Amino acid sequence: MNGVTDLFDRPIRDLRVSVTDRCNFRCTYCMPKEVFGPGHDFLPRDQLLTFEEIASVTGAFVARGVNKVRITGGEPLLRKGIEELVAMLSAIDGVDDLTMTTNASLLARKAPALAAAGLDRVTVSLDAMDDPTFQAMNDVGFPVGTVLEAIDVAAEAGLGPVKVNAVIKRGVNEHAVVDMASHFKGSGHIVRFIEYMDVGNTNGWRLDDVVPADEMIKMIDQIHPVEALSPNYPGEVANRFRYRDGSGEVGIIASVTKPFCGSCTRARVSAEGMLFTCLFATSGTSLRDAIRSGDEVGRAIDEVWGKRDDRYSEVRSAHTPRIGTPVEMSYIGG
Ligand code: SAM
Ligand code: SF4
Ligand code: SF4
Repeated sequence: MNGVTDLFDRPIRDLRVSVTDRCNFRCTYCMPKEVFGPGHDFLPRDQLLTFEEIASVTGAFVARGVNKVRITGGEPLLRKGIEELVAMLSAIDGVDDLTMTTNASLLARKAPALAAAGLDRVTVSLDAMDDPTFQAMNDVGFPVGTVLEAIDVAAEAGLGPVKVNAVIKRGVNEHAVVDMASHFKGSGHIVRFIEYMDVGNTNGWRLDDVVPADEMIKMIDQIHPVEALSPNYPGEVANRFRYRDGSGEVGIIASVTKPFCGSCTRARVSAEGMLFTCLFATSGTSLRDAIRSGDEVGRAIDEVWGKRDDRYSEVRSAHTPRIGTPVEMSYIGG
């Protein structure tokens, strides 16, 4: 195995592959309608990596130490025949953990085929337990009930325990912290609250919109007492807490107030095959061009990773204007 490390001695361990930049939701913090409206130019099909190309790129990452692969988007279940890709990736020797992040709109229908193809688990995004809040956040009127149903179907199909990701935004869905913790406590599913991040350039992020992790955990602790757990593995992004009554756990992803760049071993590949070494990157390197021109993808990865010095969240300042335009979450994959 090639042990390439970056300038801060971080190896590559996880890969997030985006399979489409399209989505059937318009979450206000990710793909606001004003920007991603009917006239928006999404990637044309021939620009997307084919499943064979994705499998080949993944194989090159695995040869460099990656063992966790997450399929994401846009909405990954919108990509036609996605279960074929799942089967191809799960067949790669060295992929120990194959997961997908989805808005669950199509999950109930697809969960059995995904599980049969070798997907290990799913993470489902859900931002509130009440329809008025969730529908305003996904901005296409999608109901909570359908997501909850899909979570149960996925768990029954063997894709659990399901992690449920909720992005919390000040003044929008703070009440969802206690609502969701109460709903999922004891269910076997694990809710993870995510601090609203300044990814991309379109969501109008302000530091004031962030509900800090400490505040969220205090809200939960007041209703359902919790205690901190140690990480499952080095570099785990979620801070984990267990309910003191033994009825499960809850996580907080504090990317803004407690950044974890020091242990960030994650590479991201966009649907068109651009390699990004940070969620907040302003530019990437085309692995698709390398593949399509017959170059060795592995060498391109080594070159990029060897020069990596990203630690955006650790140096972030709400008052420091960024140089360059960061890529959008829906493009790079969350
Ligand atoms: N469409 C799928 C979904 O929503 O699960 C996968 C892609 S989405 C970009 C991946 C994750 O990124 C979701 O859990 C979403 O909530 C999260 N996300 C998007 N924009 C975010 C932001 N500004 N801050 C924090 N998390 C964000
Ligand atoms: Fe779509 Fe996911 Fe972004 Fe929401 S968070 S707009 S579901 S890609
Ligand atoms: Fe990793 Fe970049 Fe996030 Fe830091 S800011 S944890 S380097 S993706």
